[in-house]
Amino acid sequence: MLKVAKFGGSSMASAGQFRKVKDIIEADPARKVIVVSAAGKRSREDHKLTDLLYLCHAHIKYGVDCDGVFSMIADRYREICSELGLGVDIEAELAALRSELDQGISQDKLVSRGEYFSAKLMADYLGYDFLDAVSWLRFSFDGTVNKEESYAELERLASGRRVVIPGFYGAMPDGSIKVLSRGGSDVTGALAAAALNADVYENWTDVSGILMADPRIVENPDTIEHITYNELRELSYMGAQVLHEGAVFPVREKNIPLNIRNTNAPEHPGTVIMESFEDEVINERFITGIAGKKDFTIVTVYKSGMSSQIGCLRSILEIFEKHGLSVEYTPTGIDSASMVVASDKAAKCIYSIVGEIQRTLKPDHIEITDKISVVAAVGRKMAFKPGTSGRLFAALGQNGINIRMISQGPDELNIIVGVNNDDFENTVRVIYHSFVK
Ligand code: ASP
Repeated sequence: MLKVAKFGGSSMASAGQFRKVKDIIEADPARKVIVVSAAGKRSREDHKLTDLLYLCHAHIKYGVDCDGVFSMIADRYREICSELGLGVDIEAELAALRSELDQGISQDKLVSRGEYFSAKLMADYLGYDFLDAVSWLRFSFDGTVNKEESYAELERLASGRRVVIPGFYGAMPDGSIKVLSRGGSDVTGALAAAALNADVYENWTDVSGILMADPRIVENPDTIEHITYNELRELSYMGAQVLHEGAVFPVREKNIPLNIRNTNAPEHPGTVIMESFEDEVINERFITGIAGKKDFTIVTVYKSGMSSQIGCLRSILEIFEKHGLSVEYTPTGIDSASMVVASDKAAKCIYSIVGEIQRTLKPDHIEITDKISVVAAVGRKMAFKPGTSGRLFAALGQNGINIRMISQGPDELNIIVGVNNDDFENTVRVIYHSFVK
């Protein structure tokens, strides 16, 4: 059994957090490969180490003295080292970085040092080996991860060992350091899990998994216990703050379960994400999660006989395409078709689009409705089951919420309703309470 466990910035923020991480790792001997982020914030007002490193580089770039920022960075790691009584020669490491910095260090190398120090310290604390990401995580010349080479190299280097790997960076073909996009340690963890064919990829953060709805809207929402990648994609597309796609792709490809856990509440099972779940208990909870976004505009074109006019919808869509405006949904009627677009993106071209539709299609009438929100109820269990949409629409009706638009994907993984912006929060709450409590 092999678990690859990635610990995010808040789990690495202080000596106290390091202690929690150690307890978690020691509680399960399968946690052999550990991936870590740079130290994150200890409080709301605190700074992430990576942000400070970017700031440090900006100082150098513009010729401003960076001593103050550098000491903030150095002190954080000094503190962790001394509080935990670690054997790492942190002063020598910091002095080496300082001299590199004075000689002109690349931005990517400098900002990668947050993860580098975290991993050095954590490896020492756990009694694991430090395995630098540059020794296996390889980029191709075009800046994309060379998966084949990276997987083979990690397998060779880490098999049978207990190692701590710094997240967020790897090596270009010429050996120079390159960082992934922000939050990239998630990607490193997923790549490591995929390379080593781990039984599970654990992603330890400061929340107990993915919540069924935004806690700023629904009070104390339940955690999603099991979610498929497709559902996750729907929810993140609709605005839920979850892992980005690059971070899940390597483990998804190999069908490795991804478990989101909370370092501050390790007993909580968190959320498990998989391609599919066999032998599911189909209980009353048809909905996996609810998410939504505000500020959409609906452009409705009315033209009698539209439904029998072949190519009409295509001509309308082509006009949107020409202006580079993405159409999110297209509910249609017999003699009308609506295009739902994001208002901020539509602002600069909506009147040109309407003008062009008017000239080319000569419709009876065009209507523009803005301040619309879309809310999606997402759930694999509602597919091909009668009654879910009835229940949802009835609940919204009983609560006086006027539905302005309805859309459902052909896979029946979601039901999307368009409502007035003013009804957005209430819609999320009504859907949540009608299916969850
Ligand atoms: N430290 C990096 C960042 O702040 C990467 C990570 O934490 O995943 O973006």
